[in-house]
Amino acid sequence: MRGVDWIMDGGALSVDFVNTLRDRWSDVPRETLPTSRSMIGWMQSAGVAVSSSADADYSTALALRGALEALFEHRASAAEIALINDLSRDAPRATLVGAGTDITAKIDAPASFRGALGQIAADAVTLATNGLLPRVTVCHHERCGLLFVDTSRGRRRQWCSMQRCGNRAKVARFQERHR
Ligand SMILES: [Zn+2]
Repeated sequence: MRGVDWIMDGGALSVDFVNTLRDRWSDVPRETLPTSRSMIGWMQSAGVAVSSSADADYSTALALRGALEALFEHRASAAEIALINDLSRDAPRATLVGAGTDITAKIDAPASFRGALGQIAADAVTLATNGLLPRVTVCHHERCGLLFVDTSRGRRRQWCSMQRCGNRAKVARFQERHR
C-alpha cells in the first residue's frame, strides 16, 4: 500500500513521521494516517519492516508523533521526552554487517508495532546524539509547514524540496517582478 500523498523529504525517519500531519500551519491540519492500517502502510513505505499489526496502538503512535513535533519545535514537555525515551527502548537493534571496507549497519526488523514506534523514536534520539536537532527546520513557505533536517553547509536550505516549495517561490518571485 502506497499513500498518494506521503512525502519522504525530511531527511530522517522521525521527521518524515511528523510530516504525515500536513498543513500544520492551518487551523485544520490534514491527517494522512487516519487509521492504524494506513500507519503500518506508511511505516513499510518508510523502510520500517513492521511485520505484525496485532498490537497496533494507534493512539500511542499519534502521541509519539505529537511528542516528536514538539521536540523538533523546541517545546517538548518532560512527559513528551519521557514518551520518546520509553518507546525508543523498544527499538530493534542495529548491527554491523560485512567485513573490511564493506560494512553497513542493518536494523533488525521490528517484530511488533511497538518496536516500529521504537525505531521512529530512536531515530529522533540519534538526531539529537549527532547534534542535528537544531538543524530540524520548518520549510520557509508560509503554506507548507513540512519539516526537514538542514544538512547544507551554512544551513541555508529554505525549502522542503526544490520541486515543491522552491519552485512555488520562484514562480511567485517571477510574477511579482512582471506585474
Ligand atoms: Zn515546503
